[in-house]
Amino acid sequence: MNTGNFFIDSLPHEIKQRLSFQLQLVKLAKHDHLYLQGQKVDSIYFPLSAIISKYQTSADGHTIEVALTGKEGVVGLTSAFDSRESMNSCQVCIGGSAMKIRVDFLMKILEAEPGLEAAMMHYIDAQVKQMSRRLLCNRFHSVEQRFCTWLLLVAERRGKPRVRITHADAARALGVHRPTITETTRILCEKKIIAQSNAAIAINDLDQVKELACECLADLSIAKKAVPARRLNSKSAA
Ligand SMILES: [Zn+2]
Repeated sequence: MNTGNFFIDSLPHEIKQRLSFQLQLVKLAKHDHLYLQGQKVDSIYFPLSAIISKYQTSADGHTIEVALTGKEGVVGLTSAFDSRESMNSCQVCIGGSAMKIRVDFLMKILEAEPGLEAAMMHYIDAQVKQMSRRLLCNRFHSVEQRFCTWLLLVAERRGKPRVRITHADAARALGVHRPTITETTRILCEKKIIAQSNAAIAINDLDQVKELACECLADLSIAKKAVPARRLNSKSAA
């Protein structure tokens, strides 16, 4: 039976069954922190309707989003494999549901199921690619391009053209001052490309938003996040 999380649903049946005994369904509220940068990672999250932002924060408090994870992925995985200290701050961008598993339970399943480790390593590789693309995007693309790309990425993961995000959310994700987002959204609203109300932004003209987004959209879209673990089975992967 599918869970709604693409990563879990791509796993071979036996692994999915083992995981299901330890997975706990949780509700995540907007702006909740799953981990702060450097904090111990005790649980791994598999978002369903929730969307999680991974941030880097400078010593003087500036933030920038390095990855966005929704129903296609996993949060906390890299840290669990390595130091068990979170490399980034992970905050709920859009509140909703997720499944979580304790790291010690996951490690026990990994010992018995090498196919799961192969799928996780592939996912970590995809995350590194996503972060590399965000690095290029943040350096070379305009705020309007980055805002349109980010809005499309959030809406795609949410599965709705209207998402509950504020100017402060977008500014924190894109590493710019809030008035810059206010001005960017004002221009897009005037052209009726987007609309704003009650701390939410709606995409009115999807084609126009895609036109204004940068080339990074194709690489960061969940349409490209198919996990080859679907082709694995636990015995052959072992
Ligand atoms: Zn870009």
